[in-house]
Amino acid sequence: MCEFCTKHGEGKKWYENIANYTEEVFSQVNSERNAKAFLSRLYHSLKTDVERAYTWKRRFPRIYGLIAYPLVAKHLKKTHFGQIVPMEDIENILGNFSSIVRLPCVCRKVTTGENKRYCFGVGMDLTPLFKGIPDFSDFDRLPAAEAKAFIRQLDTEGNTHSVWTFNTPFIGAVCNCNRDCMAYRFQLQMKTGKAMWKGEYVASIDPLKCSGCRECIKRCYFGAVFYDRMNVKCLVNQKNCYGCGICRAVCKNDAIALLERSAVPQVAKDW
Ligand code: SF4
Ligand code: SF4
Ligand code: SF4
Repeated sequence: MCEFCTKHGEGKKWYENIANYTEEVFSQVNSERNAKAFLSRLYHSLKTDVERAYTWKRRFPRIYGLIAYPLVAKHLKKTHFGQIVPMEDIENILGNFSSIVRLPCVCRKVTTGENKRYCFGVGMDLTPLFKGIPDFSDFDRLPAAEAKAFIRQLDTEGNTHSVWTFNTPFIGAVCNCNRDCMAYRFQLQMKTGKAMWKGEYVASIDPLKCSGCRECIKRCYFGAVFYDRMNVKCLVNQKNCYGCGICRAVCKNDAIALLERSAVPQVAKDW
């Protein structure tokens, strides 16, 4: 289990500790005023601040790597970070709540200009905070079963799932992302900071079931699957694997399984 489980999990994975979704934890680490200010600035910060950080990184790569990168990561870990969570754990999370709010995806608005609703507010009702914030005026409420079906569909279409804090350990959103996600771009394309932690799992391919079709390579956003020409099979580089599990949906041979990260010694401490 990761350090967040140790600190905030009460013996479980930290995102399965329902206390972390409650008003009580929100009020311990947050205030309505700060949360509103954060949400009001989110579009601007994803559009402008990320680009600015990337410009600094390109201009001064060494200094950025030594000083800014760790500072950014430390700041995000405290204020707003995500962790990858596979579909089955997302279903368990959603099972605890009867009503779920589907929210606008601010990242996709920045990267593609589209107005999509791929984020979900679970637990504490955050909608009173949205008053007067145009970016969050367009939301709807879904019963948990409908939310699960929608997210399951997003999984088969190749969206990874993650939980996001609004001042850790309060979890305010379950997100469903592809390469248009700003956290993905910030962390894996621009390599400007760490905003997203690896999940509690890693993938493994059963060579006896794998036909070497390579569909999983196309599906993986993290460059974790490679083709072994000699054996005509795909393999997972577990160092790169985020444990999202979305590669499973494209495998017709059911050859891919998720293992508990803690049970795989070479990546057990790799977040
Ligand atoms: S983290 Fe994912 S779902 Fe959430 S706003 Fe970004 S792309 Fe959209
Ligand atoms: S999708 Fe399945 S069968 Fe195809 S290469 Fe990947 S693991 Fe093998
Ligand atoms: S190999 Fe790992 S990171 Fe890539 S899609 Fe599968 S579970 Fe996700």
